[in-house]
Amino acid sequence: DAKKETHQFKTEVQQMLNLIINSLYSNKDIFLRELISNASDAIDKVRYKAETEPGILGDDTEFKIHLKPDAIKQTFEISDNGIGMTLDEVLENIGTIAKSGTAAFMEAMEQAKGQETLIPELIGQFGVGFYSAFMVADKITLVTRAAGTAADQAVKWVSTGDGSYTTETVEKATRGTTITLELKKKGKDDKDFTDQWVIRNIVKQHSDFVSYPITMEVERDEPLPDEEIIKDKDGKPIGATTRKVMREETLNSMKAIWTRSSSEVKDEEYEEFYKHLSHDWNAPMERLHLKFEGTTEYHALLYIPSKAPFDLFTPERRHGIHLYSKRVFIMDDCKELMPEYFRFVKGVVDASDLNLNVSREILQQDRLVINIRKNLVKKLFDLLEKMEDEKYNQFYDEFGAVLKEGIYTDPTRKEKIAGLARYKTTKSEDKWVSLDDYVKNMAADQKEIYYITGDKLSALLNSPHLEKLKEKDFEVLLMTDPVDEWVVQSLTEYDGKPLKSAEKGDLELDTVDDSKKEAYNALFGFIKGALEEKIKEVKPSSRLKDSVSCLSGDTWDTSAYMEKLLKASGQ
Ligand code: ADP
Ligand code: MG
Repeated sequence: DAKKETHQFKTEVQQMLNLIINSLYSNKDIFLRELISNASDAIDKVRYKAETEPGILGDDTEFKIHLKPDAIKQTFEISDNGIGMTLDEVLENIGTIAKSGTAAFMEAMEQAKGQETLIPELIGQFGVGFYSAFMVADKITLVTRAAGTAADQAVKWVSTGDGSYTTETVEKATRGTTITLELKKKGKDDKDFTDQWVIRNIVKQHSDFVSYPITMEVERDEPLPDEEIIKDKDGKPIGATTRKVMREETLNSMKAIWTRSSSEVKDEEYEEFYKHLSHDWNAPMERLHLKFEGTTEYHALLYIPSKAPFDLFTPERRHGIHLYSKRVFIMDDCKELMPEYFRFVKGVVDASDLNLNVSREILQQDRLVINIRKNLVKKLFDLLEKMEDEKYNQFYDEFGAVLKEGIYTDPTRKEKIAGLARYKTTKSEDKWVSLDDYVKNMAADQKEIYYITGDKLSALLNSPHLEKLKEKDFEVLLMTDPVDEWVVQSLTEYDGKPLKSAEKGDLELDTVDDSKKEAYNALFGFIKGALEEKIKEVKPSSRLKDSVSCLSGDTWDTSAYMEKLLKASGQ
């Protein structure tokens, strides 16, 4: 029977609705994402159910989500042919919030009162995406028919968000849910959600990869049939040659290629998606398409660009990871999924168990996210370690300086990243040498890994500090990246061999003859007197061979290059 019932929202649910309704939160677009994601979930569910109950779909087998903005009525409608809801389910899912009584919920509400920006977090954290529609609507009508129930057993739910909602049994010809929003009067900064272009853009931005078609009647110009075109005596058209027609179009590309099996996706598709994602015109250097299954399921599609972007070292640079949950976009620039030293990696991570409105603060502590990050980092290292030399060197030319940051920012993977570092050396003749190769080539009596830092290879090669090392035929790493100064502060040894600056401290290559020391004392005293302000000490050195003298520092002093860097950065 079609008896209409009125239900009261629980006090705290109403409080939350008041927050949402009165919110000045500006990013109201997300209501659409929420409704689309609910529709997509509902289709997922019925599709899943049909696996075991094939009859349940009837002839309504073409899944879709249909949007219907109406500028005259000022309404916005979204329908799906998903699983729908029975009356009990409506009461359970739409009228209440499972976590509404909990302390965490109350606390989050209290906080959100003072801060508009916390509202989406509140919406997300407590799984109340549906209510976000009250940001844009004065009144919401939901009509739903559960899969497998009769047409006259559909349910209509109506609320203006002012304390109560009504339910009644109605007729609905097809399975699924239709939600109609009576839109609020638009403020001057608000978007017009009845404008097809506004809707189109929001869908593109947030829901492009939803795997069901999101359709809408779109106004298009269609050529008039020839006999309807009015022409002059020369056959030239006078007036209109086209007419406006409404045509249903699919707004999303549906290309969730990361959820497809990698054997099915063509190289061009991978490439096109990379370009779409990165706005890069070049093809990527490498890609990594991963699927993790187990307690939590997630997909990842990662790319390494072939060229470093210009803003790789600027503070405003954005990370390249887009986060999705079940093909619904959550956020881009997701720094939480990738360490800084992999900030050049572009791609998508789609984790089914993530909350759509999860905030960045929460992401940082989310165990799932921490886990995903760990796995992705591991896979990226595997990829880099397996790359062929030529390609790896190409990669290293572009991103080596960034990768090396990990040596001092990620102590747990210091040795691994050091293993991926490459340097030119006094013996490499412009080729990249790994630390492993260096160690392999060490002379029998060589105990340390020698390096020197500076900004120019040529200057380093001719440095007087290296004379004795060259004579002994010891190889020296020539470090010319600014980050190397930080690298050597944190990487004090590799493969059990200490790293030693060729320009600092005692090299202990040969002991200096003490009797000779005596002989030069007078000269040293004279030099020290003349340069008093500038130097600490004058000593005989085992470092030089052809040159008479050189400036060097104590083991713990800043290097000459570091001093230059600090000066350049104004310190
Ligand atoms: P969440 O999606 O996080 O569960 P929502 O507030 O978005 O929270 O939705 C609440 C519940 O309402 C959903 O879990 C689902 O059971 C039900 N629901 C919402 N929209 C639909 C729909 N279009 N079809 C079927 N069920 C829906
Ligand atoms: Mg939802």
